[in-house]
Amino acid sequence: MPIQQLSDALIDQIAAGEVVERPASVVKELVENALDAGARRIEIATAGGGKNLIRISDDGCGIPAAEIPLAVRRHCTSKLAGGLDAIGTLGFRGEALPSIGSVGRLSLKSRAAGSDEAYEICVEAGRPSELRPTALSRGTVIEVRDLFHAVPARLKFLKSDRAESSAITEIVRRIAIAFPGVRFELSGPDRTTTVFEAVPGDAPLPRIADVLTPDFADNAIPVDAMREDVRLRGFAGIPTYNRGNGQQQFFYVNGRPVRDKTLHSALRGAYADVLARDRHPVAVLFLELDPALVDVNVHPAKADVRFRDPGLVRGLIVGSLRQAFNEAGLRSATTNSS
Ligand code: ADP
Ligand code: MG
Repeated sequence: MPIQQLSDALIDQIAAGEVVERPASVVKELVENALDAGARRIEIATAGGGKNLIRISDDGCGIPAAEIPLAVRRHCTSKLAGGLDAIGTLGFRGEALPSIGSVGRLSLKSRAAGSDEAYEICVEAGRPSELRPTALSRGTVIEVRDLFHAVPARLKFLKSDRAESSAITEIVRRIAIAFPGVRFELSGPDRTTTVFEAVPGDAPLPRIADVLTPDFADNAIPVDAMREDVRLRGFAGIPTYNRGNGQQQFFYVNGRPVRDKTLHSALRGAYADVLARDRHPVAVLFLELDPALVDVNVHPAKADVRFRDPGLVRGLIVGSLRQAFNEAGLRSATTNSS
């Protein structure tokens, strides 16, 4: 076969393979969009583990009617004005909505702040509909139905509704920790609803306690340290407040939930002297640094990062946590708790 240019629909489906791995990735992208739009209240509803329905409603700035068709078009974003070195938003690739629209049935309703009209656009099989007037009091509502109906191969690899639901809950918990001033409401199967109420003044600890467990607050040491313009803040569980796995470790870089080997291994290093090898600390750590010193454009899902100077970050985490343990008078503690 001769070399041919792929059709747009195929290009979107290929990109979607990386951005939208499972229903939880759709939730992540849509919640990130709501946060980037300055939302203070975000409602998330799902059915069938997110495979049948995902609906995200926000009270953010909305999208002007003329821009709605662009929002669902590939490589269109309102967020990259400062270039890749100055990313201050969770999104920046202009890929999520077109990707979702290529593998599920997408409907986007939005009413821009200051406008008294709302409009809806639908995307199916990558093809956007005409813009239609609709009713909406404010913000944006995005509905995704029949996710992956267009890619049965992917659908087959999804787990049970229950497992997909819990992955959605997990993503929402992770994000909610970084945005304590925002109210999150997640309605899952069987009318279960999880609500994280907005914390006045954006104070991090009440939200962390709400998402983790209320007793974390009594078993954590605050950390606040700075090295060469890299700031580390957060809360590190005392060594006796440990876990059998590392799932209660939350890392954020400039407000973005990330997974990163440097960070996990630094945390392990910090606890090396005070925690048994088979136990895992509980910690919530926020790093803030010049966006030019960290690359978040490593993978389309934007959860991986690369630090310009990983040694500096590691030293900051290990050094400041050890110092915090010393100041709190903690020494070798290998007793196990839950
Ligand atoms: P990105 O977030 O990388 O820009 P997306 O495909 O996720 O790409 O969204 C495309 C654009 O649509 C965004 O840049 C933004 O302007 C607009 N948008 C998407 N969701 C919302 C929302 N909930 N509220 C306001 N604008 C939105
Ligand atoms: Mg986005």
